[in-house]
Amino acid sequence: MNAKTMAATTDSFVAKEAQYGARNYAPVHVVVDHALDCKVWDVEGREYIDMMSAYSAVSHGHLHPRLVAAAQRQLKKVAVTSRAYYGTTLGPFLEKLSQVTGFERALPMNTGAEAVETAIKCARRWGHRVKGIADGQQQILVARGNFHGRTSTIISFSTEPSYQDGFGPLASGFAHFDFGDMASIRAATTDRTCAVLIEPIQGEAGVLVPPAGFFGELRAWCDENNILLIDDEVQAGLGRTGRWFAFEHEGIRPDALILGKALGGGLLPISAFCADAKVMDVFTPNSHGSTFGGNALAAAVALEGLKVLEDEKLVENSAELGQYLIASLREVQVQAGSLIREVRGRGLWVGVDIDPAQATARELVERLAAKGVLSKETHETVIRFAPPLTITHELIDQAVGIFREVCLEKVRVASASPTVEVAHA
Ligand code: PMP
Repeated sequence: MNAKTMAATTDSFVAKEAQYGARNYAPVHVVVDHALDCKVWDVEGREYIDMMSAYSAVSHGHLHPRLVAAAQRQLKKVAVTSRAYYGTTLGPFLEKLSQVTGFERALPMNTGAEAVETAIKCARRWGHRVKGIADGQQQILVARGNFHGRTSTIISFSTEPSYQDGFGPLASGFAHFDFGDMASIRAATTDRTCAVLIEPIQGEAGVLVPPAGFFGELRAWCDENNILLIDDEVQAGLGRTGRWFAFEHEGIRPDALILGKALGGGLLPISAFCADAKVMDVFTPNSHGSTFGGNALAAAVALEGLKVLEDEKLVENSAELGQYLIASLREVQVQAGSLIREVRGRGLWVGVDIDPAQATARELVERLAAKGVLSKETHETVIRFAPPLTITHELIDQAVGIFREVCLEKVRVASASPTVEVAHA
């Protein structure tokens, strides 16, 4: 293929998605053809290092051979039966999930948002039946800047105007507090409060790590006031932060845990709401469900996925290589003058905060893609790096080397321009 035909190939796939698809995304101009572990190839044969891993869904690396084999084995047996019957993979998966999370029960769904919806329903019913709040009066506290998904109920308590604009009427029963600020949680609590729903690190808000001690105080506050602490680890869970679960960094145990993304091993969607029996058992037959939730194929893959995390020590790898990634990015920060305001994160989950006076995160993401590194911006200023947990020192060196090039190019161009001032450039 010559260069012209190659570009035409990319353009034709982009044009088809734009013409026939709803325009609810603004993808980076890369047409992915295939992928393996931490590498992705586009339709024109160009190679990329995946520093994004589908927003943490591909923590095991693309097409992990053990996960593909587990899927193939199950595909010779049965894939979907609905929960009208029992199966041979769901029970073993739930048993393993209980062993790794420490929660007695789990309710499987498909997407992260569905597991969050499950948490909301559970919290409200618990608030009514166990805590004694009048039905319809239950209130859930949520953080400003939260991201918990895209359903009409969940966007009702987003503080991001573009998520809500034109989608009213919004659901009630939620009140806000400032992430990391106990005083605002105390002020928002009433006798109608049944739960606090919170991310352990605010991902979409820009990988915001809470102040030390905050979760400990929040745990104590919830205990004193008989409030469920519900931890949304759809993005943070399963090793992303260098521990199995981010709550372990805080020395606490929540009352319920929400998992998604990486639970499907990067192959298919499966999510779960986990809690002990005294909370979970507010669900009774017919009160909740999902046709595909916990299907035989997804359960087989998810069970193998948990074993792979354990056997390949991917959580430990995330802790070690996460420190290396953060340290390497901080070196670039020093080299790039004032272009980078902050490098923050935990494990292999890092946000690089760009000075908006000098560049948008999106333009740097596009430059990185052009040079073979996949990342993604969140909001205008933050570039997110969250590679598969199978990443190596060598690949981090390559990816960060390219990021350094992109940043230094930007700083050079800016300092050559008489209208823009760049400190220390
Ligand atoms: N909760 C959190 C913390 C998330 O980061 C996300 C997705 N980014 C969701 C829920 C929603 O997951 P899904 O897109 O699978 O519905």
